[in-house]
Amino acid sequence: MSYKNFPMVSHVVYGRGSFNQLDEIISPKRNGREAPFIYFVDDVFKGNHWLTSRISLSYKDKIIYVPTKEEPKTSQIDQLVQDIILEFSIRPSGIIGIGGGIVLDIAKAVSIMLTNEGESKDYQGWDLVKNPAIYHLGIPTISGTGAEVSRTTILTGPERKLGINSDFTPFDQVILDPELTKDVPKDQWFYTGMDCFIHCVESLNGTYLNAFSQSYGEKAFDICKEVFLGDILSTEVSQDKLMMASWHGGMSIAYSQVGVAHAMSYGLGYLLGVKHGIGNCIVFDHLEDYYPEGVKLFKEMKEKHSIKLPKDICADLGEEELDIMINVALSLEPLWENAIGKKWKETITPDTLKELYLKM
Ligand code: NAD
Ligand code: ZN
Repeated sequence: MSYKNFPMVSHVVYGRGSFNQLDEIISPKRNGREAPFIYFVDDVFKGNHWLTSRISLSYKDKIIYVPTKEEPKTSQIDQLVQDIILEFSIRPSGIIGIGGGIVLDIAKAVSIMLTNEGESKDYQGWDLVKNPAIYHLGIPTISGTGAEVSRTTILTGPERKLGINSDFTPFDQVILDPELTKDVPKDQWFYTGMDCFIHCVESLNGTYLNAFSQSYGEKAFDICKEVFLGDILSTEVSQDKLMMASWHGGMSIAYSQVGVAHAMSYGLGYLLGVKHGIGNCIVFDHLEDYYPEGVKLFKEMKEKHSIKLPKDICADLGEEELDIMINVALSLEPLWENAIGKKWKETITPDTLKELYLKM
């Protein structure tokens, strides 16, 4: 038995207002005037925004606003990398991602592809990246995905939706400033927060579970219950806590794996473009056979926050389309093995998934 030896984020700062330390943190990482820091910023912060106006650009530094209607594609990453190579004569000093999971994943992927040949689709999978990425720093503005701490960046490619999982993917630095999450719309707060809750349920109920994952997973699970079901916390305490739940949830799956909701949500994402957070919620709502306790709590949370999920999103799909989704979901073997066990193929068949999808 060989145990995973995985890297973690090497530097992290936590606290309200810690965003102000960004400049001081990156200054020593600057490789001269010609090598810029490139900021990928969620376009929700575009314009004369309180967050953007706190970024101080020097020399050739540049902000690139990222639309977040759709999740990142490999072609988009390749284009961004191409644009950077064409615009600047030398390699940037670093990449900084400010936003939700989409922007954080884009920052990670671009920092990898600036030092690795070929196209980003070639690196979707496990441990395919050869060269270390350039310096990359992540600043989440919404809590739940764990993308700030994980060793993956999830991309939709021509053939599959799959992460670039590698030792070079984690951020070199993360700034956790819960204040940045204050304007997240309620529905989105719920969907992305539930991503964290579902990470915990899938990790804690998986066959890959070990004391390492359990210790982080239980903590994050408890925080989610406090934030989404407990007595009213002050808005600030709730933001602080959810940001730490996201971190712990991510740490939990780092040493285990996600499960059924994620596998099936990838299918919805690939075929229908349903986004990760809401997709997980749509799937998880129907998984009482797999995660009875978690699904019961989820339904209580949904009720408490008056969240209405879309219905019948698969009702009009033809056989071929259903097959595409089913194949994407089934291809994520480690997720099924974690959820069900080594013999998962005996119980999880295309028909099992078809029946579930048709309920959604
Ligand atoms: P997101 O990046 O899709 O953003 C959701 C919405 O919230 C966007 O409209 C965005 O503009 C808005 N938003 C973000 N911060 C805001 C703020 N402070 N104020 C107002 N609006 C704000 O959301 P997400 O759920 O964080 O990320 C989902 C993405 O993360 C997916 O692409 C998924 O594949 C990826 N993901 C990655 C990992 C990983 O480990 N790398 C894990 C889980 C999910
Ligand atoms: Zn997730």
